[in-house]
Amino acid sequence: MFNKILVANRGEIALRVIRAAREMGIQSVAVHSTADSDAMHVRMADESVCIGPPSSTQSYLSIPAIIAACEITGAEAIHPGYGFLSENANFVQVIQDHDLTFIGPTAEHIRVMGDKITAKDTMKKLGVPCVPGSEGGVASLEEAKALGEEMGYPVIIKATAGGGGKGMKVANSAAEMERAFMTARAEGKSNFGNDEVYIEKYLTTPRHIEIQVFGDGKGRAVHLGERDCSLQRRHQKVFEEAPGPAISEEERARIGKTCADAMADINYIGAGTIEFLYEKGEFYFIEMNTRLQVEHPVTEGIFGVDLVREQIRVAAGLPMEFTQEDLKINGHAIEVRLNAEKLPNFRPSPGRISQYHAPGGLGVRMDSALYDGYSIPPYYDSLIGKLIVHGRDRPEALARLGRALGELIIDGIDTTVPLFHALLAEEAIQTGDYNIHWLEHWLETNL
Ligand code: ADP
Repeated sequence: MFNKILVANRGEIALRVIRAAREMGIQSVAVHSTADSDAMHVRMADESVCIGPPSSTQSYLSIPAIIAACEITGAEAIHPGYGFLSENANFVQVIQDHDLTFIGPTAEHIRVMGDKITAKDTMKKLGVPCVPGSEGGVASLEEAKALGEEMGYPVIIKATAGGGGKGMKVANSAAEMERAFMTARAEGKSNFGNDEVYIEKYLTTPRHIEIQVFGDGKGRAVHLGERDCSLQRRHQKVFEEAPGPAISEEERARIGKTCADAMADINYIGAGTIEFLYEKGEFYFIEMNTRLQVEHPVTEGIFGVDLVREQIRVAAGLPMEFTQEDLKINGHAIEVRLNAEKLPNFRPSPGRISQYHAPGGLGVRMDSALYDGYSIPPYYDSLIGKLIVHGRDRPEALARLGRALGELIIDGIDTTVPLFHALLAEEAIQTGDYNIHWLEHWLETNL
């Protein structure tokens, strides 16, 4: 096992990794920008290294600075968290070239899954069902229009390098194709440096269902059921739950096995998420994320496992601590993402926290790097915390979420907390009867 690991991230996910390391008796090294000198991850780690100015390109995304921090502190492995360098194949390569260990999948798997066209192609070959669409990239507007006619509108044009909801445009008719095609390409180019796009049938009432997978890199892989992340704003998740209210035990077993077998086939190592759209009883693969996801705690809640601990273990060459048979679902878990944003426009709302009080009690987990007097810097993501609740069943989890939100105090800035109070009063949330468009419609009429 490692003696010391470096956490190449900030905020709640850095704390998440530091906590797992500490429980395993592993020393942790935090890295931070000059804007984060007072951040909680710096205080909580055993050591810290300042790696650059506020701009993430010069700090949290600076590969040389992070490698240097490893060499200075003697850290043997790097956990990337999510975002930043977590899905950067080149970073993994550089880490290996320095005889360090990346806590995550291989550079090759990151590369294959990071390009959505190659990912779909690979998954199709592994027997995973995909959204109907173009065979690979679509190079010209003429080709796009021809495909639109052939497949039938609406279609969605997606940048192969896209992520975070960027580089995706819907065309409802031939008339909308030119604009959608050009915009998706331009967004792909400007955000990800790659203008290649592909086309998919646009599903109109699906749920977003994702399967948590975990592999040991030696041909063994398991699945940890699904998460329903259909409640989204601008293709970004805001509320996630497990198990999915619409998924039966048989469906879970079937799609779960397909995913686990595919991961075993490619010798996948560590945590991964295979994302699907689910409509009328069918699953359609859209993409795979080769990292720990923001919403991983709901899976931990119902399975009683520590995914970060497992990531660290398999990276050190140890076996997984569970088999498929060991993994039994217990109860229901829900996560809400708390952002420093002002409703109704979700404008970023950084600033000083005058008072912070985290909820507690049975079945409540608050993953956050906030503290009294902390100043949220304006340079990074607006996620300031995740409130996760666990109950014996869905109604209990919902009641617990309402209770915990009521105890939470975050004063001094605007947050998305009021959104969740309002959502809990909605019948569709109480019954679980929603799809990927429900929240956008609700926001239009209620905010
Ligand atoms: P990103 O990598 O930017 O997160 P994804 O491919 O994971 O993009 O898609 C994000 C969300 O966009 C999905 O959860 C879904 O809401 C919507 N979406 C993506 N593809 C389709 C599709 N073919 N039909 C309908 N909605 C889609």
